[in-house]
Amino acid sequence: MPATERYNDPMQDLIQRVLIELGEDPTREGLVKTPKRVDKALRFLTSGYQADIDDMLNGALFSVDYSEMVIVRDIDFYSMCEHHLLPFFGKCHVAYIPNGKVIGLSKIPRLVDIFARRLQLQERMTNQIAETITEKIKPLGVAVVCEGTHLCMAMRGVEKQNSYTITSAMLGAFRDQSRTRMEFLELLKLRSGSISVTGMPIPDHTHDHDE
Ligand code: ZN
Repeated sequence: MPATERYNDPMQDLIQRVLIELGEDPTREGLVKTPKRVDKALRFLTSGYQADIDDMLNGALFSVDYSEMVIVRDIDFYSMCEHHLLPFFGKCHVAYIPNGKVIGLSKIPRLVDIFARRLQLQERMTNQIAETITEKIKPLGVAVVCEGTHLCMAMRGVEKQNSYTITSAMLGAFRDQSRTRMEFLELLKLRSGSISVTGMPIPDHTHDHDE
């Protein structure tokens, strides 16, 4: 395909333009289908904008007589930093104390996906997950902790390659009662001291990422 040929798709034409601006030859074999692939990938990675949370939760909110802490830990998330359009990814841990209602357990990772598949800040994503759970089931408390590796820091050499960022949102009982908060952190086996420094990268000596 000659460089002048268009994809007749605004997004794909733009991506072809980016390749040219980077000094590449968009007609070479390996790049001819790249605009199409990048278009598809970007739309998938930002599909959280279109997702309907009520639709997703429909039929998965249950009335129960259970008021102990519910924890879903080690939820993988993959998101895109809104400052650099580069991935950040890691684990998200969610806990809440029901107040008459629970969310089907499989829906919590889905909720994380909906907020991860957007252009994000890890801090905002963490808050959005906590606030949505609060809004939907009015629990006694919600805690969300995310640990993320940011490729915009690692690949650009801004920070040490193996540092990661911890963010937390503590609402209701998790904010008001230090015993509840400590119980949660104990269950996560995270270094509790690291939680107070929301948003700050912490050198990683113990954390192992499979990704
Ligand atoms: Zn970034």
